[in-house]
Amino acid sequence: MIVPKTYDLIILGAGPAGLTAGLYGSRAGLKTIVLDPKNPGGQMLLTDDIYNYPGHPDGITGQKLADLFLKQAQKYGCEVLNRAGSVQLAQKDDHFIITARDAAYQSDAVIVATGCSPRRLGAAGEKKFSGAGVSYCAVCDANFFEDLEVVVIGGGDSALEEAAYLSRLCKHVHIIHRRNQFRASDACQCLVRNLKNVSVIWDTVVEKFQGDDLLESVHLSKTDGSKKWDLNVNGAFIYVGQIANTAFLPDSVDIDPAGWIITNEKLETSVRGLYAAGDVRQKDV
Ligand code: NAP
Repeated sequence: MIVPKTYDLIILGAGPAGLTAGLYGSRAGLKTIVLDPKNPGGQMLLTDDIYNYPGHPDGITGQKLADLFLKQAQKYGCEVLNRAGSVQLAQKDDHFIITARDAAYQSDAVIVATGCSPRRLGAAGEKKFSGAGVSYCAVCDANFFEDLEVVVIGGGDSALEEAAYLSRLCKHVHIIHRRNQFRASDACQCLVRNLKNVSVIWDTVVEKFQGDDLLESVHLSKTDGSKKWDLNVNGAFIYVGQIANTAFLPDSVDIDPAGWIITNEKLETSVRGLYAAGDVRQKDV
């Protein structure tokens, strides 16, 4: 049997919320550990330049900001376990037992800061071409599409920011949006407004991703059914929202119908000792 290591505070997720909690916990003198399935940084790592984080008027890369968050938390003694794989959370008496990467950790207090992941579009061929033309991360994959044509699917801030990023490398970026106006903020709409190699196809959805081994085209349909056609592209970047990473939580944790964790103003969940912070929480942005 694995003997759990005891902590005052265990934080799940090393994105901005998790590393901030790690900084505050360790500075408050709590023996604190942050566990992350991947590398520290969370969704900061999916963004090239970040211009709206206070204190960085000229912007900062997501990777650099993530490194600074990590360094600052560790400076005060916060332990950070990367690539912890999938974590399991169990409750025993008044404390929680977390198992991750063949080790166990126990604490009376756990903060869930596991954030969210890109929502899948659900179109035919999406799974088949994932990693073969279909991507959810422009910063990770844009280089594969240098001087090629791509589509960006979605009309929110993420879609427009990443379309602007892709326009620097790709020959042409087609934004496919299901309505005739963007959900994105004015600031994000400005990023693409005057770019010559970015165009928008309104009131349209992608029905199918097509090709042999690699993506070659998308099959498009007007939302009113008036037209269906193929558009030849090498890449498709999907930005149709996010889903909360809560699959590992027990049923005793209250979650709203969309999957976000319900907390009160103290960030307490419905389970005593279990808190939630960051994107995984139900909130208005
Ligand atoms: P979002 O705001 O939820 O936008 C999702 C977009 O995808 C919407 O335009 C939506 O269309 C579309 N969509 C959803 N399901 C679809 C489907 N099945 N088929 C086709 N289109 C679909 O998501 P997000 O852009 O990832 O942003 C998430 C949050 O992060 C937002 O609060 C955003 O403000 C924030 N964010 C902020 C920044 C920044 O401040 N710089 C950058 C990125 C993200 P409809 O519009 O028709 O619903």
